[in-house]
This record gives sequence, structure tokens and C-alpha cells, in this order.
Amino acid sequence: MTHIVTRKCNKCGLCPAVCPVDCIVKGNNPVYDIYYIDGETCIDCGACVAECPISAILTKDEAIKLGLEVDVIDNIEFFASGPGYGDK
Ligand code: SF4
Ligand code: SF4
Repeated sequence: MTHIVTRKCNKCGLCPAVCPVDCIVKGNNPVYDIYYIDGETCIDCGACVAECPISAILTKDEAIKLGLEVDVIDNIEFFASGPGYGDK
């Protein structure tokens, strides 16, 4: 499993600071313009979920149950073929 940032993200910037493995990155371009979680590195600690004031971070399974597959794919593609850690 992993956690993902959903499109609800308002870019407040609070979550990266609490991630113990530093795997939350802000996108800085028109295609990727919210925050994203690197599922290959995320250890599912849940710290970012507690930090997010608008509950924009879900587990992958929760997101799929809510029909947010597109957001799951966006988080994967941001690191696989998008800017990834280069946007940090
Ligand atoms: S669940 Fe933990 S490890 Fe995963 S992105 Fe959130 S803070 Fe980082
Ligand atoms: S804390 Fe929530 S709203 Fe703020 S940047 Fe992170 S995911 Fe987005």
C-alpha cells in the first residue's frame, strides 16, 4: 500500500515537513501543480494524514474506493515520468 495526495490538496505546504522519509514533493508546473507522494519510498506512517488540514491525503485503497484512481495514477506518474524529486 501507499498514501497519495488527492486533487483536494490546496498546496498549504504543511505535509512535507512531517514526512520521516522525505517523500512528499510539490509540483511546480501546470501539469503537476499540487503535492505528490512517492509510493516507492512512503512507509505508510500516516503522519501526513494527521497533518493535512483538509484531509487531502488518503491511502491508495481509500482513494480507489472513492473513485479517485486518476489521483493514484498522478502520484505514480509524477515520480515515474514527471518532474519527481527534480521539482524539490
Ligand atoms: S504516510 Fe508517512 S511516509 Fe508516507 S508520505 Fe505520509 S508522512 Fe511520508
Ligand atoms: S497538508 Fe494537505 S493540503 Fe497541505 S500541501 Fe499537504 S496534501 Fe496539500
